[in-house]
Amino acid sequence: MALERPRGTRDFPPEEMRRRDYAEGVVSSVFKSFGYGKVLSPAFEHTELFRRKSGEEISEHMYVFEDKGKRSLCLRPEETASVCRMFVQDLRSRQLPLKLYYHCPMYRYEEPQKGRYREFWQTGVELIGSSRPESDAEVVMMACEALLKLGLEYTLNISHIGVLRGLLSEVGLDEVGQDKAISGIDKKGADGVGDLKGGDALRSILRLEGGAQAMKEAMRMLEGHEKPLTALEELRKVSVLLDSGKADYRVKLGMARGLEYYTGMIFEVRVAGLGAQDQVCGGGRYDNLIELFGGPKTPAVGFAFGFDRLLEAMEQQGACFPEKDLDVYVACASDAVRPDAQRIASDLRRGLEGRSVELELLGRKLGKALEHASNLKARYAVIVGPDELKNESVTLRNMDSGEQRMVRITDLAKLID
Ligand code: AMP
Repeated sequence: MALERPRGTRDFPPEEMRRRDYAEGVVSSVFKSFGYGKVLSPAFEHTELFRRKSGEEISEHMYVFEDKGKRSLCLRPEETASVCRMFVQDLRSRQLPLKLYYHCPMYRYEEPQKGRYREFWQTGVELIGSSRPESDAEVVMMACEALLKLGLEYTLNISHIGVLRGLLSEVGLDEVGQDKAISGIDKKGADGVGDLKGGDALRSILRLEGGAQAMKEAMRMLEGHEKPLTALEELRKVSVLLDSGKADYRVKLGMARGLEYYTGMIFEVRVAGLGAQDQVCGGGRYDNLIELFGGPKTPAVGFAFGFDRLLEAMEQQGACFPEKDLDVYVACASDAVRPDAQRIASDLRRGLEGRSVELELLGRKLGKALEHASNLKARYAVIVGPDELKNESVTLRNMDSGEQRMVRITDLAKLID
């Protein structure tokens, strides 16, 4: 039987990795521009870490295994729990706020389909130590900035999990009951409320969606409901900051998010053209998680981009990716000059730092070698020939115009733009 990769995983050929590296570079440079530093946690953790609060949805889909020491371990299904564990274990004495970002693969045993994989990448941030609305606004703005730099059109929805929890507690649900209801609402929207007592009022709040008008309407509808109104007021403060940052958002109180650890503002980003898996980003405030992992009570807020979906959205929306460019291809006019060609290629790589220089490696005759250089979209070819070498020179060919001239080897690096 031929060996195949496991279901739900992918191989990435060089063209695809070029696109992925480019997108990763764009997103991380935005994070860095806000002062965030990159972290990496282990690919597997104690299963208990994710059982505590990542929610039923994730818990059901984890890759859990026992190691030889009979410990239950799990491939990381998300990164927020790992970053909080890292904070409690090693970073708690750092100056706050602590601003961290990551880009790494996650593992969930889900039914594979377009935009849903068993191994997928998330690129995200965690801002630890501030409970202020400015920090909620900062992470949302950072997500918007990254999407803008990637050239994506998107819809940003914001809410506050306290509105939903407040209303659910008013109809008599304890925390466990609320988690269940929230999971239902996450899957089915307002219909997920089911036949709860007082469900009609709840449904009409959850169906509210829109800009400033929806916020006003919600304020009016929640009058007299203390807990949900306090949560909505917090969301309003964040929305004012988003207005001044010129972020285009919609208030969507029916948004629930599958993760149980959220305690405040939550948000999601959707893009057109991805079908059912159109959510490219999810995040929110989680003020209890660090304490739950044995650390001091520390507020935090963050989000994760589904990196694979970002790439798919960029392709769908015709975003620009940089072309592969080979700067120089070094070919030989005869076998006798191969050692010289090798030396010239090495010197060029040193002289043209950051540029790519490829050497002909299959013993091709010159004509075939230049054909190959053209297939590789090389900008220049350097042709090393015995006669030119006698004058310490080579032929430099501009592959676009076909123009070529003899140049001194010592001048070569200067002549390649
Ligand atoms: P979550 O950690 O569930 O909030 O997900 C954050 C983001 O990761 C989502 O918005 C998706 O874009 C992405 N994502 C979640 N699950 C998968 C998956 N199985 N395959 C690809 N992307 C995923």
